[in-house]
This record gives sequence, C-alpha cells and structure tokens, in this order.
Amino acid sequence: MTVNKKYHAFSLSNYETIPQISRLNPEDKEAIEVVGRVLPFKTNNYVTDELIDWNNIPDDPIFTLNFPRREMLLRKQYNEVLRLINSGSSEEFLKNKINEIRMDLNPNPAGQEYNVPTLGDIKLHGIQHKYRETVLFFPAKGQTCHAYCTFCFRWPQFSGMNNLKFSMREADLFFKYLKTKPKVTDVLFTGGDPLTMTAHALIAYIEPLLEKEFNHIRTIRLGTKSLAYWPYRFLTDKDSGELLTLFEKVIKSGKNLTIQAHFNHPVELSTETVKLAIAKIRSTGVQIRTQSPLLRKINDHPDIWAEMWRKQVDLNCIPYYMFVARDTGSKYFFELPLERCWQIYKKAYSKVSGTCRTVRGPSMSTNAGKVQVLGIAEINEEKHFVMRFLQGRNPDWIGIPFFAKYDPAATWFDQLKPSFGEEKFFFEYDDQGYNSSK
Ligand SMILES: *Cc1c(COP(=O)(O)O)cnc(C)c1O
Ligand code: SF4
Repeated sequence: MTVNKKYHAFSLSNYETIPQISRLNPEDKEAIEVVGRVLPFKTNNYVTDELIDWNNIPDDPIFTLNFPRREMLLRKQYNEVLRLINSGSSEEFLKNKINEIRMDLNPNPAGQEYNVPTLGDIKLHGIQHKYRETVLFFPAKGQTCHAYCTFCFRWPQFSGMNNLKFSMREADLFFKYLKTKPKVTDVLFTGGDPLTMTAHALIAYIEPLLEKEFNHIRTIRLGTKSLAYWPYRFLTDKDSGELLTLFEKVIKSGKNLTIQAHFNHPVELSTETVKLAIAKIRSTGVQIRTQSPLLRKINDHPDIWAEMWRKQVDLNCIPYYMFVARDTGSKYFFELPLERCWQIYKKAYSKVSGTCRTVRGPSMSTNAGKVQVLGIAEINEEKHFVMRFLQGRNPDWIGIPFFAKYDPAATWFDQLKPSFGEEKFFFEYDDQGYNSSK
C-alpha cells in the first residue's frame, strides 16, 4: 500500500521552504532567482523527496529537469536580468525587459500557429490539426503541469504570454470540428498536462466522444507527465477512483485509451508509487506509450535510454518516440548535435530486445513534420544524413528516404542543406502540402 501524499508545489515564491534547500550554495540559489524570472519554475514534494538525489546537485538529472540553472540562459541574458533585479527597477519595467528576452528565446517553435484550424470563420485556438488522422486539443483547465521541465517547448503556456497560448474553454466547438472531419481517428489531449484537470472536467470532454456520431474517433490519447511527476494522481488523489472509472468506461465502449507518458530518465520509473500507478492504469485496459526528448545533462547516454526502455517494457509500457530537443527556451543548455542523437539512439537500440524496438527516433518536430534521422551514409566518399518523415503535413511524404549534407555541428533541421547540389528538399517543392490535413 502506498502512503497518501498531499500535493505541495514549490515555485519562485516559496522554494526556500523545500526541506533539502540548505544543500544549495548561494550561486545555485541566485540562478533560481534569475533564470526562474524568465522561464517558468515549479517542482513538487514528490520530485524533491523521492526523485532528486540531493547528494548530486546541481548535476543530478532530475534536479536539472526542474530547477533553473545558470547556464540555461546565455551569459549576456543572465547578467542583464541579474542587473535588473539588483537595480531596484519597478516590477513593470522588469516585466517588459523579461518579455523582450523571452521573445529572443523562440517561444513558438515549428510554426505551431499554422496548425490552428478554423470552423467557418472562427479560429480554434485550442486545437492543432497538423497530421490528417490526429487532432490535438488543449483544454483550458489543463494548461499547467505538476512540475515544469526546464527544457519545455510549451513554456509560454505557463508564462502569462497569453497571445502565444493555445487553449480552449468551449468543448462545443471542439466536438463540432471533429464531426466535420471523418478522417480523424485520434484525439490527443495535451497542454500542459490534461491530468492536472479534475476527473469531472475530463469526463466532460471525453464521455461525449463515446457517442455514435464519433465512431470515426478510435483512439483517445492523453499526453501527460503525471506518472513521472505525480503518480498519486492515479492512486490516492481525491478523484483518482473517478479517473480510473472513466478509463474503464472508454475501454468498455470499444475505443482505445492511450496514455502518452512522458519519461526523461529511468529514475522516474524506479519508485514504488510509479510502479503501482502503472499497474493500476494497465488493469483498466488503458495502454501506456512512452516518449522523451534527448537532453544533454539529463539523458545523453545510450545506457540511460536502454535502461529506460527495458524498465518501461518490464512495467508493461510501449516505447514510442525519442525526440530531438526543440530549438526554444534554454536550448543551448540541452541541445546535442544530430550526429550524437543518432549515435545514442543506435547504440541504445542495439542493446535491447525487439520488444523495446517499438521506439522511433531521433525525431525532429519541424514545421513540415516529424523527421527521423535514419543515419549517416557515405556515398562517393562524401557523408550525408539519411532522413525520412514519420509524420508529415502531407501524408504522401511519409517514409520516403531523403538526404542532407553531413554537418557535424548541426543540432536542428533548419541548419541542414540538401545533398547533391539540390536547391531544396523534395517536400519543399510541394506547395499543396501545407493544407493537406484540412
Ligand atoms: C506528434 C504529433 C502528433 C501525433 O503523432 P503520432 O505520430 O500519431 O503520435 C499529432 N500532432 C502533432 C502536431 C504532433 O506534433
Ligand atoms: S510536463 Fe510536458 S508540458 Fe509540462 S513542462 Fe514538462 S514538457 Fe512541458
């Protein structure tokens, strides 16, 4: 039996009350105060008590996953914010300056605004529909998380940058939209973390999808990091019973319910609480598929991934995606060359059995689609990246191998050039592509 833990969040205003905080030296604390002004900071008592190894800070992977560190901003940006804080400037002035710095951090990567569909002349700001079969929904009440990842590409969702926020209160428009899209088979609730919502709120979005008019929706997915950040969500939270009953109801209706679980490090799979939570979810018939970006200083070693995938399969989860960290926020801290990403994937993949090899990666979520780096090929004594789309705005692009000039320093797709003297990549000649999901 697990103990009943009461959720307690820590942020900039109360982090000094974290019991282990005396382990931090003054420089680490200054970094929290400075970087935490620009990028959102939040952790909780499960993470601080059960996941972080306080003998290993600041390099502990889970500490790095939640706590702002000095190197997460460029030195120039860091010094500017520090100077502003110390100058006694007004809150208003500080806020404007900080927003300017945020705008320099590419707050909305990969042209997500192109994914926002319309219904008649209404723009549906809480929906993204990029790939034909799958609609993303951002319920307004689920736009927070049980803790914030320092690398998160959705960070403007939590920073009060409302003009950049995707979210929607009205379920009606969402249902109306889905009725007009018979090719959509999957709905993915995302955020933020939709499992920060009450079961009651979630039921209002999910139960209507079980009606006959939504027969085309076969799989409902919940994108969540609750298993890693707050597994009590499925065990002892006040409405955890209600949540599991909802899960059972979806499965009984004949649809799939899948948790797209976000795990970054094997430590997150090691506590009794997370193991119990996974078993509980699986007992309802809900599937769990896992994903994570590759992150320097958190999981940049093949052994970490091999261990993570093995543990996941042991616990009855299906490894699904390995992503390249997005080019946003504190990217300089976390980014790895594409070549290194591919090497980590290849080495980890070759260490595990076929049951773990359901995972696909390393994959970049670009404006055009999810691009997988398949490897590096030598052709006529010249090196090239070999790539393919795992997902594309135009489904016809998927699976076609294509080449980019080898570049050992490249960390993201937009730094790559087509091979063999081509001017553009093959899909860039396709001006139909950007509308194909609609
Ligand atoms: C990844 C992603 C999906 C889901 O893709 P699957 O390959 O079906 O898991 C849907 N929409 C967007 C915008 C995505 O980035
Ligand atoms: S749980 Fe997901 S949405 Fe929330 S901060 Fe982490 S990466 Fe971002």
